[in-house]
Amino acid sequence: MESAKFNIALINRCTMTEGPEKRLAIWFQGCDKRCTGCCNPELFDLKPAHILTLDELLAIITQTKEEFGIEGVTYLGGEPILQQGLAELSQAIRAAGLGAILFTGRKAEELTDTLKTEVDLIVDGGFEQDNLDDKRNLIGSKNQRLIFITERYRKHEQWFYTPRPKRVEMNLVGDLFITGDVVMEQKANS
Ligand code: SF4
Repeated sequence: MESAKFNIALINRCTMTEGPEKRLAIWFQGCDKRCTGCCNPELFDLKPAHILTLDELLAIITQTKEEFGIEGVTYLGGEPILQQGLAELSQAIRAAGLGAILFTGRKAEELTDTLKTEVDLIVDGGFEQDNLDDKRNLIGSKNQRLIFITERYRKHEQWFYTPRPKRVEMNLVGDLFITGDVVMEQKANS
């Protein structure tokens, strides 16, 4: 069977800002929800950005684990669940001992059971501009829920409520945004 492919806008290999502990963060390209006030409108378009196969993406993740000791991976967007192979990716990530956090504009109830059981934490719901949340990190509006699928991140719940110092973490490689180090040249779209 052909390996799943992922449409990726950005990868941040080692960040302390996209969830508890050191993480690799992936921003997927494309979101069909287009919430007013979304902080990533440049990721709305459902156009090819950087296309990586499951194996290519896993190679980056496992190399990053070895180099930086990341604890897990965060999916952001764009809308991660538009990626057909997300459950398969999550299964492989967790088999490698890493945790998986999914930010989605959908309600958790709309997700497939297959996907829900392959991630550890879901932050669900689209951004609501008239319902701002000024208490939590990374979470823009009060409707968005922290849903602990496993116990892995429950002990970190307070992280989302603890103010964080501002950090700048970026390298620019071509038009691919990577933090920490460079492992990947820009891929040709396919
Ligand atoms: S669902 Fe998320 S990524 Fe999509 S428009 Fe809404 S806030 Fe932005």
